[in-house]
Amino acid sequence: HAKDSGRNAFRFFTEAMNLSAIDRLRMENALRQALEFGELSLHYQPQVELTTTRLLGVEALLRWSNPVLGNVSPARFIPVAEESGLIVPIGEWVLGEACAQARRWRDEGIDTLTVAVNISALQFRRTDIVGKVRAALDRHGIPPGMLELELTESLLMHNAEEVLRTMNDLKALGVKLSIDDFGTGYSSLSYLKRFPVDRLKIDRSFVNDVADDPDDAAIVRAIVQLGRSLKLDVIAEGVETPSQLDFLTMEGCHSAQGFYFARPMPAAEVSTLLHAGIVAGGTQHAA
Ligand code: C2E
Ligand code: MG
Ligand code: MG
Ligand code: MG
Repeated sequence: HAKDSGRNAFRFFTEAMNLSAIDRLRMENALRQALEFGELSLHYQPQVELTTTRLLGVEALLRWSNPVLGNVSPARFIPVAEESGLIVPIGEWVLGEACAQARRWRDEGIDTLTVAVNISALQFRRTDIVGKVRAALDRHGIPPGMLELELTESLLMHNAEEVLRTMNDLKALGVKLSIDDFGTGYSSLSYLKRFPVDRLKIDRSFVNDVADDPDDAAIVRAIVQLGRSLKLDVIAEGVETPSQLDFLTMEGCHSAQGFYFARPMPAAEVSTLLHAGIVAGGTQHAA
């Protein structure tokens, strides 16, 4: 009996594995065609300066709508895209699309807005990211300062010299660099001094309980102070409630992004927000 149940357990185990492997393969195959079938799009989430409530920028976030799979969340498909290498062509598309949109906003007279794009570690390490970024800026004719690249902490860990060189080359183009999900990785603080980073994005896992959990409050406070000492902007991700906002404002956090202000939205809605002057103090008029 023990043998039977052992075998059944084994069979169950492999079936579960196969199922998820099939799901994964199905998603990978669908994702492989998502670009050519026009199933990918970008939404943009506003980033707000806390002292002025001015809209400083937006983060471009991928959306995938497939006829069979429906709307698939990036939390599910980005890992598949990374494991399969598909993040490279997809990431290139995102960069081009975000720059094209930045150009449209600039043409509408909105030129103080920063458009942030998430760059996967694979894209950063395995492709000529500097050449790609330069080409995208040239092709769409946008001021480099309108583009921000969000990198992850883990990227800073390996081949630091090579990463540093690439980051310096990107900075030389004039784009901004930020560290996404800051606090969740292992970056040594000394790296922050060496790498040409413009801002830190406090991970939303810390922001979530900031009003109730003294440990999270201490971490957020420390990151804000670190930013102040190193002259880096600090933005809090995932702000959902007034009490989180109050805490961040009190601590002198520079800016914030989260459902409390706005969800990720299509580009046209961002334009509406900006043109309606809903965001106080926005300098929407080009010189
Ligand atoms: P991320 O770069 O940290 O992006 C922020 C995520 O937090 C977004 O999830 C956003 O919708 C979500 N978010 C923003 N405010 C709130 C809030 O107040 N509450 C909660 N609960 N969530 C909030 P999304 O769009 O599902 O993207 C998830 C992740 O997928 C991103 O995390 C990023 O790592 C990755 N991703 C998205 N688009 C791209 C892309 O174009 N390229 C790459 N490489 N990765 C991307
Ligand atoms: Mg991000
Ligand atoms: Mg983030
Ligand atoms: Mg995150």
